[in-house]
Amino acid sequence: MRGDAKTMPATTIWKNGEYVPWDSATVHISTHALHYGSSVFEGVRAYATPAGPAVFRLQPHTRRLFQSAKIARMAMPFTEDQVNQAILETVRRNGHEACYIRPIAMRGAGPLGVEGRKNPVDVFIMTMEWGRYLGAEAIEQGVDVQVSSWRRIAPDTGASMAKIGGQYVNSQFITMEAHDNGFNEGLALDYSGTVSEGAGENIFVVYNSVVFTPTPASSILLGITRDTVLTLLRELGIEVRFEAIPRDMLYIADEIFMTGTAAEVTPVRSVDRVTVGAGSRGPITKAVQDLFFAYTSGQKPDQYGWLTPARPAAAGA
Ligand code: PMP
Repeated sequence: MRGDAKTMPATTIWKNGEYVPWDSATVHISTHALHYGSSVFEGVRAYATPAGPAVFRLQPHTRRLFQSAKIARMAMPFTEDQVNQAILETVRRNGHEACYIRPIAMRGAGPLGVEGRKNPVDVFIMTMEWGRYLGAEAIEQGVDVQVSSWRRIAPDTGASMAKIGGQYVNSQFITMEAHDNGFNEGLALDYSGTVSEGAGENIFVVYNSVVFTPTPASSILLGITRDTVLTLLRELGIEVRFEAIPRDMLYIADEIFMTGTAAEVTPVRSVDRVTVGAGSRGPITKAVQDLFFAYTSGQKPDQYGWLTPARPAAAGA
């Protein structure tokens, strides 16, 4: 089904190379990934721009999907280019102006042995309209976070650089605990006790006008929004240091913000009920947000090649 309606719900899902109706995109109960978390996935956004919907940083997301599959020893039955084209076509067919896109590859139906490599790999692309992950006011007002009692997976107990389904039980524990304690989000320390990342976001800490962010050695996912923000900070001429961040630095920071495809650039206004800086969005956070939304909306010329239009240009345009 095709359409140009502004708020049409997704009706079509890409399943192993075919476009199928939403209700037909099902899996069998023997699907390995359901039992053991053996899936790899991405979260991507398409933004509304003057040229129609455009997928933000399509190639890096697809590349990371394939890197996650490589780490999980999962043979992808499609090429990166096929997945890129399928993402664009799925956005197009569903008539979205803006949407969240969830490509996922999984070990499918077959034997239940834990090893899983005899099971076929199934690939799906699902889209949906999804607003602000941490709430509409969060972008301006900021969120309240707690340092979780759950640690992020250690380098020798998981693969933090891969988006592997089963690993997200760790993120669920962090988020559920935060919600139960009245916080918007949880922030995990790494195995060594220094700051890692949020349940689904990377973290940036501003102290004395310098921006600090942890490295992959602190069990982070190498976020694509993190990479985007590093480019924006360079554009703004702001110094960035990649360092292990002790927990107490969070309490004396001038500003903190979290980044993610779902969370975009979200200020943190308190950590463990300790107010961050002045308790409202700080100037560096605001400058990064303003640039981020200027690029994602297509308002600012796409000098970094971040936007891939989902709708082909009209003939002669
Ligand atoms: N860390 C984790 C654990 C995540 O799940 C995400 C969301 N993908 C991020 C960080 C942010 O990554 P990105 O900016 O690529 O969405």
